Amino acid sequence: MFNPADKIQDLQYFGEFGGVNPSISDSSTYTFLSAKTMFDTFEGNTDGCYLYSRHSSPSNLYLSDALAAMENTEAAHVTASGMGAITAVIMQYCKNGDHVVSSRTIYGGTYAFLKNYTPQFGISTTFVDITKIDVILNAITENTKIIYLETVSNPLLEVADIKKISEIAHKRGIKVVVDNTFSPLSVTPSLLGADVTIHSLTKYINGSSDTVGGVICGTRDFINALKDVNSGSCMLLGATMDSLRASSIMKNLRTLHIRMKQHSFNGLYLAGRFEELGLKTVYPGLTSHPSHSLFKSMYNENYGFGGMITIDAGSLEKANALMELMQERNLGYLAVSLGFYKTLFSAPGSSTSSEIPMDEQKEMGLSEGLVRISIGLDENIERTYQSMVACMKEVGVL
Ligand SMILES: *Cc1c(COP(=O)(O)O)cnc(C)c1O
Repeated sequence: MFNPADKIQDLQYFGEFGGVNPSISDSSTYTFLSAKTMFDTFEGNTDGCYLYSRHSSPSNLYLSDALAAMENTEAAHVTASGMGAITAVIMQYCKNGDHVVSSRTIYGGTYAFLKNYTPQFGISTTFVDITKIDVILNAITENTKIIYLETVSNPLLEVADIKKISEIAHKRGIKVVVDNTFSPLSVTPSLLGADVTIHSLTKYINGSSDTVGGVICGTRDFINALKDVNSGSCMLLGATMDSLRASSIMKNLRTLHIRMKQHSFNGLYLAGRFEELGLKTVYPGLTSHPSHSLFKSMYNENYGFGGMITIDAGSLEKANALMELMQERNLGYLAVSLGFYKTLFSAPGSSTSSEIPMDEQKEMGLSEGLVRISIGLDENIERTYQSMVACMKEVGVL
């Protein structure tokens, strides 16, 4: 069976002086021995040649290659942020007059980009419930270029049937773009038919909440097109990762498999115990989750169901009181983002998904009292559970 962590482990890079980590390429530009080679490089024959670091750099290529191996794609390209990856892919595929079918439960920034920003360039989007195949089919028009979705959606943790969606898309010449930020290692979208896999490296993959970063994984042709000096969205829009960051993310990637196992272990434990208490809990690892068996049909069980849980505190006031008390008791931080060693929690309706209008939030089931928890790497999760329950009792959630 394909194991993405084996693929990462099998890659060997050495530093300039035999260092066990690759050297950091601390240069924005590169010399050429002949003018002819420089010309050829501009024409796209960049094999073995570096031109300018917005195009590519050795450190960025090391990280890109490792992420391509992890996502089982021919190639990858790292970007300055997750949004830098998402916007470049959408602008590469879609031109004036084109249409996007997108899941309605996606990262707030992606939602805002498709809803408010791309229409200025004549690109329209239909937002759909991504768990309903007939709704997706109905939304497709002759101008649809891509279907955009998240494997596990933010913040409702809906699961997309990537295989089925890829089948219906490919029959119609439509590409499938998957944001896999919530489920690295657990799900490999390319194995299910996805054309492009995106991550915000800011989250689990880097895991130390010290940088933003992104990656686009796809075919060699697509990645080369993104980097084309005359027409590539990555090259021309310029969301380039810095070499120093690429090298630090590369080092954190080495422990991703161990971290994901612990996040998933803690997630499953907490979600199960919360549900037993009668709390409205959403977690793909619970048999009560509507897509539990779908997730199981797609996942690599070594890495589990991930570390994202939502609970319903009943109201925004209770959600806020609970988060403030949990922070006071040092159970985690009231902060957006995810994938940190420490538990992070936020109320998506009034933070990360606030770009989505209130009536639409209601319609998709995003309740005011929803608390999104990115469970940390806590060693003693029973202790964490007991302390969280004490907080819930104090603020009247239980
Ligand atoms: C955070 C996030 C993004 C955006 O990534 P940045 O690195 O903050 O630009 C995109 N998609 C998902 C699912 C995210 O959680």
